[in-house]
Amino acid sequence: MDIKITKAKTLKAKPDDSVLGFGKYFTDHMFLMDYTPDKGWHDARIVPFGPLEIHPACTALHYGSEIFEGLKAYRRPDGGIQLFRPIENIRRMNRSAERLCLPQIPEDMYMEAMTTLVKMEDAWVPPSPNTSLYIRPFMIGNDENLGVHSVHHATFIIILSPVGSYYKEGLNPVKIMIEDQDVRAVRGGTGEAKCGGNYAASNRAGERAEQKGYSQVLWLDGVERKYIEEVGAMNVLFLINGVVVTPALRGSILPGITRKSIIELLKSEGFPVEERLVSVDELAKAMADGSLEEAFGSGTAAVVSPIGALIYKDKEYVVNGGKIGKLTQHLYDTLTGIQWGKSEDKFGWTVKL
Ligand SMILES: *Cc1c(COP(=O)(O)O)cnc(C)c1O
Repeated sequence: MDIKITKAKTLKAKPDDSVLGFGKYFTDHMFLMDYTPDKGWHDARIVPFGPLEIHPACTALHYGSEIFEGLKAYRRPDGGIQLFRPIENIRRMNRSAERLCLPQIPEDMYMEAMTTLVKMEDAWVPPSPNTSLYIRPFMIGNDENLGVHSVHHATFIIILSPVGSYYKEGLNPVKIMIEDQDVRAVRGGTGEAKCGGNYAASNRAGERAEQKGYSQVLWLDGVERKYIEEVGAMNVLFLINGVVVTPALRGSILPGITRKSIIELLKSEGFPVEERLVSVDELAKAMADGSLEEAFGSGTAAVVSPIGALIYKDKEYVVNGGKIGKLTQHLYDTLTGIQWGKSEDKFGWTVKL
């Protein structure tokens, strides 16, 4: 692929690793390329990071044709950098594109765009423990008219943001509210696509949970509001009677790469894992009789996020005494060990740049 590079005239001062947080700072450059049916993907370019110029009738602004991904570049102990399962993100984005009628991107082209940009911004991959460079590829429908139709012109963009340690003082369990009014997705909808519209539709319940003092919502299925789906921007897993149980992917749940990695890791350790329907009644019973030993969310940003309490119909259930469980801690240590290159990657998940 021919990538035209225009370098920034001045480079920004880099923030101290201790103030990074999530998604607040951006690097010096970004990647863009455009798609039209006649030219295919074209005009691949890396330019100084800055505002986009888009037409006020741009499809994404009016009809929500937007998809995105999220992954990280990690600083290894030897000073090099690596990615974690990037091909999974590329394939998932192409599946999201298929669902929203946006154009797919050839895998090697996508990988080259990402690795070229990350290598160019090497100095932005922070060295402090548990910090990383977050990679946010996204695609927008970019037609310049208000007609409702599938997209003809799309723009693919990659921006990079150095992010801090998700956990400043150890892994803090969070309180989660089981949402029984709003729903996030239904089968046949866009729940398994990583698209901005899913987030817009989730905000109201998230806000209600926050007002009540809970950090996120646990979604139930959109048809019967009976089965557990996922938490906010994370998949959810439970340890019930010595078995890890997680909702099966049936079309309305985002297929998380962290979820997939945890399942593969547990299976390689001979730990029993079940992907199946998990009803809220089963969960309430397991919470009441104490057979729910651990509960945690999984996602790229936090890796795993222990759940200390679950609230259902205004009744609060404490999980594992409100503390992080042994298995949750083990999964966090193992995955982060591989991601930051501190332990052996026997699965071949990491890609050195
Ligand atoms: C991105 C995302 C996840 C987690 O996926 P990972 O690949 O593990 O980061 C889970 N749920 C939703 C809704 C998401 O957008």
